[in-house]
Amino acid sequence: MRAIIVGGGIAGLATAWWLRRAGWETTVVEHRAERHGGLDPDATATGTIPGGYVIDFFGPGYDSIEAMGLRDRVHDHDLRLEGIQYRATNGRRTVRMGTDATRRLGGGRLVSLLRGDLELTLREALGSDADVRHGLSLTRVEQDPDGVTVELTDGTVERADLLVGADGTHSRVRELVFGPKERFRRYLGAHTAAFLFEDPEVADALGRELHMLEAPRVQAGVYRLTETTGATFLCHLAPDGSLPADPRARLREVYAGMGWYLPRLLAACPPRPFYDEVEQIVVPAWSRSRVVLVGDACQAVSLMAGQGASMAVAAAEVLGRELGAAGTSGARIGSALSRYEERVKPVIETKQAAGRRMARWFVPASTTRMLVRRQLLRLAATPLADRVARPFLASPKLAPDRQRA
Ligand SMILES: Cc1cc2nc3c(=O)[nH]c(=O)nc-3n(C[C@H](O)[C@H](O)[C@H](O)COP(=O)(O)OP(=O)(O)OC[C@H]3O[C@@H](n4cnc5c(N)ncnc54)[C@H](O)[C@@H]3O)c2cc1C
Repeated sequence: MRAIIVGGGIAGLATAWWLRRAGWETTVVEHRAERHGGLDPDATATGTIPGGYVIDFFGPGYDSIEAMGLRDRVHDHDLRLEGIQYRATNGRRTVRMGTDATRRLGGGRLVSLLRGDLELTLREALGSDADVRHGLSLTRVEQDPDGVTVELTDGTVERADLLVGADGTHSRVRELVFGPKERFRRYLGAHTAAFLFEDPEVADALGRELHMLEAPRVQAGVYRLTETTGATFLCHLAPDGSLPADPRARLREVYAGMGWYLPRLLAACPPRPFYDEVEQIVVPAWSRSRVVLVGDACQAVSLMAGQGASMAVAAAEVLGRELGAAGTSGARIGSALSRYEERVKPVIETKQAAGRRMARWFVPASTTRMLVRRQLLRLAATPLADRVARPFLASPKLAPDRQRA
């Protein structure tokens, strides 16, 4: 059995790992160039972030990482953030929350790392003999009852039993097989951006804390990565939704009123920072004959819900196990894909609903709402924190795996 997986990100690499374990031959097609970890010196020099941004990784995906034997390797990348400091635009600290309670509640089963370091761990686990092709995408897909034929951007034509679209929210596989993105996108009214900076003085001042500057409609997170480098994570309301032609100019305009270290960091912003819409993806059926979607391509919950990467890793496990259980019979692929969707989708729908509820609190639109949030955060910074954090850390369970049951 052979699968072509488009997208060598978190969902794609995890799916390849589980399918190879089940005896499938896999080819991963990734349109970015190959890269080497979150703190690649070239990336620091240009300000781009192959590592992306920091993610808190816990819940179902953490269980999967453990099942893959990668727990320790993922923890090797833990940034060990010790707290979050909220600050007014002039830099004055308004709230401080330690991460101890969160980590304690999660039973230590939580790690904060660069998204790219999770990806790198999965890539290493896949093995150097795995067929992973960089700098390529997909131009054509044709299905027939026995399989799928695809054409890649270098003109290569490949035949497989299954095509997996693990190519994120802007999925090309989804566009070619399921329809245009507009049909599946639920925009949450905000844009997000991230970039790296090299500034030993700022890095030193940050310590091991995440610093969140807040003002109505805008929010800027800053944290240290190493003794000389740091990263920003920005989120602002953007009701009209259209992505700017010049993201750096847009960031400088939107965050112009913020003080503290932000003007200095915006001055160092690279021309093409990571910049995207905050959105969810809702696809009514996740597979169509011999094509299936996994990860953000069909189930993006958005950064407002959190756990998108965790859900992508967990979904990849379910997909891999169901296909593995189907054996080498092509006829059973369809029912394996249905079971995968039945097990994962209810959890995604619950998380997406939570993300939509969270949207108006994540970046408050008014001063009043921001002050209310500040009070709620202060409450969360008290011994009551356990009670406040527990529902957030509650790990939704996927429908049981028949093989383990
Ligand atoms: C700012 C921010 C903060 C976040 N915080 C968290 C968090 O704290 N915890 C958490 O769990 N999640 C978090 N997430 C969500 C998480 O990053 C995503 O849910 C996760 O990366 C999804 O993985 P994926 O593999 O499905 O998609 P992606 O990570 O988007 O990977 C898709 C891959 O496909 C490739 N690709 C795209 N198009 C093509 C194409 N046409 N051809 C070939 N390859 C292609 C891309 O280059 C990429 O490698 C956050 C997201 C953002 C933006």
